[in-house]
Amino acid sequence: MPAPGSTPPTCLQVALPVPVPRLFDYLPPEGQSLTAIQAGQRIRVPFGNRELLGVVAGTGAAEPGVELRRAHALPDAEPVFTGELLESLRWLTRYTHAPAGEVFATALPASLRAGGPLPDTHAWAWLLTEAGITGLAGLRRNTRPRRLAELLEGGPCDEDRLERELDGWRGAARSLARRGFAERIATPAFAHAPAPQPGPLPSAEQQAAITAIAAADSFSPALLEGVTGSGKTEVYLHAIADCLARGRQALVLVPEIGLTPQTLARFRARLGVPVHALHSGLTDNERARVWTAAWRGEARVIVGTRSAVFTPLPDAGLIVVDEEHDGSYKQQDGIRYHARDFALVRGKALGVPVLLGSATPSLETLHNALAGRFAHLRLRRRAGEARPPAVRILDVRKRPLQAGLAPETLEMIGAALRDGGQVLVFKNRRGYAPVLLCHDCGWSAQCPRCSTPAQGTPLTVHAGGGKLVCHHCGHRQTRPLACPDCASLALQPQGIGTERLEELLAERFADWPVLRIDRGTTQRRDGLAKLLDELGDRPGVLVGTQILAKGHDLPNLTRVVVVGVDEGLFSSDFRAGEKLAQLLVQVAGRAGRAQRPGEVWWQTHHPDHRLLHDLINGGYDTFARDELVQRAAAGFPPSTYLAMLRAEAQQVDTAGAFLRAAKAILHEAGAGAMQAAVQLHGPVTAPMARRAGLYRMQLVLSASTRPVLHALLDAALPAIHALPEARRTRWSLDVDPVDLY
Ligand code: ADP
Ligand code: ZN
Ligand code: ZN
Repeated sequence: MPAPGSTPPTCLQVALPVPVPRLFDYLPPEGQSLTAIQAGQRIRVPFGNRELLGVVAGTGAAEPGVELRRAHALPDAEPVFTGELLESLRWLTRYTHAPAGEVFATALPASLRAGGPLPDTHAWAWLLTEAGITGLAGLRRNTRPRRLAELLEGGPCDEDRLERELDGWRGAARSLARRGFAERIATPAFAHAPAPQPGPLPSAEQQAAITAIAAADSFSPALLEGVTGSGKTEVYLHAIADCLARGRQALVLVPEIGLTPQTLARFRARLGVPVHALHSGLTDNERARVWTAAWRGEARVIVGTRSAVFTPLPDAGLIVVDEEHDGSYKQQDGIRYHARDFALVRGKALGVPVLLGSATPSLETLHNALAGRFAHLRLRRRAGEARPPAVRILDVRKRPLQAGLAPETLEMIGAALRDGGQVLVFKNRRGYAPVLLCHDCGWSAQCPRCSTPAQGTPLTVHAGGGKLVCHHCGHRQTRPLACPDCASLALQPQGIGTERLEELLAERFADWPVLRIDRGTTQRRDGLAKLLDELGDRPGVLVGTQILAKGHDLPNLTRVVVVGVDEGLFSSDFRAGEKLAQLLVQVAGRAGRAQRPGEVWWQTHHPDHRLLHDLINGGYDTFARDELVQRAAAGFPPSTYLAMLRAEAQQVDTAGAFLRAAKAILHEAGAGAMQAAVQLHGPVTAPMARRAGLYRMQLVLSASTRPVLHALLDAALPAIHALPEARRTRWSLDVDPVDLY
């Protein structure tokens, strides 16, 4: 909208997916008038000698004397981004300081981003015509057309069902259609859902949470903090049913590994409406279909992973973020958004409740709840008969370990199996061993692309010891037969990975199934479900990484062992303690979900560590409050606000030169009051100094308030973009970085 008295708009301002934070001016496509085009519409424009798909950001006055190019075409009659979503994406552009075109592109499903048409969201069904009803009896018996006509006598039948029930139905349908006996009709997609099944009667705590959420008729953020198995999902289901009853749409975000067929089946059974899933296992077309169905208001319940936070919600009524502490909500490249935080922004703009659920809330969310900015709903007890597991710290100092397991642990596993239970052995390291070491000279196998003279990145030994793989860049090589430095044959795998644990356990407990569950064995989305289905309720051992920390219900799981608790205890990352505590509590939560009591063992060389004691004595709550005090004292989030400039280059000097120049600009831009409120740390070598052949450096900004951080970035970024050094290095800005590795 031009301000009164200003010059009328003469061109379109288009956001393009190019790494420059500005808009580009174009004339409207041939024969179209500027006023008929709306912000949020997709548009195809010439760019250099290519064509790009962008999004109309608005209109403006062209710079005098510049000859503008004409846009090619508008693929849709209407904007793909309207109202709240358009505004929220503009907010995200400002918050991430990223190019608007890249933000819009990130928010679109891949096929729409590539320029594909908005897909049909209806399904097809067949029905008998009047002529078909009267003519049916005249059809030859026991032919496909006759059988199809008989099937359709019961009413219209969708093609999915025909596919299941009648071989060769397509030919039969064509034959009926030729005679005018049947016709094809469009029906709303996925419109056929069974009647909802009732759930368990809510407990008093659950009911209190359900009532509190139902009472909110505008934006109201709430933390639902409930121990694992306390029935948080039941609370979501009630809140969603309530939202549906008010005629509104509900969006549910779940972590990547939480979106299991089990979860979806539970939602579908309980809600009695179609539940649309959005996750990385879908084809581009399927994703675009769900997105478009939501955009048209047809999809009423959408359950999806991180990028589902961009789902259009014209009739929004509720947003749920399950396991809100989960690391997969933060996008680590491109537009570095946090789906939980963006869900809150959208909830505010939409004026709907946002429910954040977790047994182990992030310190950011807990901080907000304790400060009264979020309602704090709690479920302190496990639902039904289930009792909390007993946790035991096992001091393994001076103990003889086999594949990392103490004798007591092995005995305990045997006893649990003989008792008919299942045991989970958790180790957060894939592969056979994390290091291959020469016992004679000390040489170890390191990744040639991720190591520097000062810092080696070991290659992980895989496949029973025969292969070496880098877990950071994917580099692979065969294991050398002899030490390349001293020719010794004494090369030994050091340390424990899941493969090595599996090897030992399978040998030791040969009478029971031992299943390894990690990214190596569950490449396919349904891989995990298949493995667990095979095991069923039989006694057996599961060995795995954090894939096992949540998702599937394992009612017969009675014992959990965590091997290698110590790895997170002394990390330089200020979030390491939080992540470890969350993992320990989540993994423990897998035990004793049903009637059988559970027991959890943490093996450690540091039995007196504060984190373990906090967790044992006061639970996650005590740990988290303690940690919040320490974060505040050390000046870390959530008491302060961080942004990180990261530079990667072939030469370490190139990355450093860029960050030094950027720092000088930040200094200048921050002169005065801002300087006191923002601290610049670095440039320093990143904790992981080199990765996939590139040296990595970082400069961290830490501010006492968000507005001053953003004001400084706004003031400095144009000059940083214009630096000649910026073209020689791969650099990025991450606001609220989660991993400073
Ligand atoms: P969470 O999401 O907190 O891990 P769930 O909602 O999955 O917990 O509930 C854990 C188990 O307890 C499920 O099997 C669920 O059916 C059951 N459950 C939940 N609420 C109740 C209740 N009020 N009464 C009986 N069983 C319940
Ligand atoms: Zn050697
Ligand atoms: Zn590597």
